[in-house]
Amino acid sequence: MIVDAHTHMPGHALSLISGYDSSQFLELLDQNKIDKAWVFTLDGLYFDPSLHNDVLQEYCAADPDRLIPFCTVHPRYPNVVEELRRCILILGMKGVKLHPWAQAFSPLESIMDPLGEEMESLGVPVMFHDGTPPYSSPLQIAYFALKHPRLKIILGHAGLHDLWKEALFAAELCKNIFLVPSGTPPYGLKRIISQISVERILFGTDAGFGDPYWQPFQLNKILSLGLPANEIELILGGNAERILADR
Ligand SMILES: [Zn+2]
Repeated sequence: MIVDAHTHMPGHALSLISGYDSSQFLELLDQNKIDKAWVFTLDGLYFDPSLHNDVLQEYCAADPDRLIPFCTVHPRYPNVVEELRRCILILGMKGVKLHPWAQAFSPLESIMDPLGEEMESLGVPVMFHDGTPPYSSPLQIAYFALKHPRLKIILGHAGLHDLWKEALFAAELCKNIFLVPSGTPPYGLKRIISQISVERILFGTDAGFGDPYWQPFQLNKILSLGLPANEIELILGGNAERILADR
């Protein structure tokens, strides 16, 4: 079972995006022998989250067993808890994606408290964009993770190229932090794997941004670590499946 735990449906928010419609995206998954993808909105990070949660739901309805939607919400909007509950309890979405840098809020702000408490009581995982210092450094997210120890918090980039050591430190500090090394250099990933359990590493690629070579590149990064087969299986899909099943 291979799960790409970090993908995006196309959007208009960034002019570089071309992206795939849902049937093309399913073909991409087939080409790379990927069984499932956790799919996030792009436009919902910049425009009306509720509208784009509905758009994402429709995108994933093309194959709901393989395309697993994660909603987004904006912690500064007064309806944040209501929209979260709508997406999880009515639409059946499986998790939450937050992008503090694009959405212009800090994980340190008290507006995060009601959202954190509600995600914790719903038992859904939350994936944060991370690796960019304005609002999205791993340690800013670790502060939020310490306040919500029952919440499963996933760093969607494991620090990117510059902050992977900080992501490693965040994961060592908070046992409820998981890492998706989608932008981490291979030498950084090797160091991370030598220091934290493979049960807290998830394969994810940021696929959906229009470059078909990115997904196999990230897959090879995991396969070339030379880990035992059972550990590779956990990273490639076992951990992602367990996180959703734990709810
Ligand atoms: Zn992303």
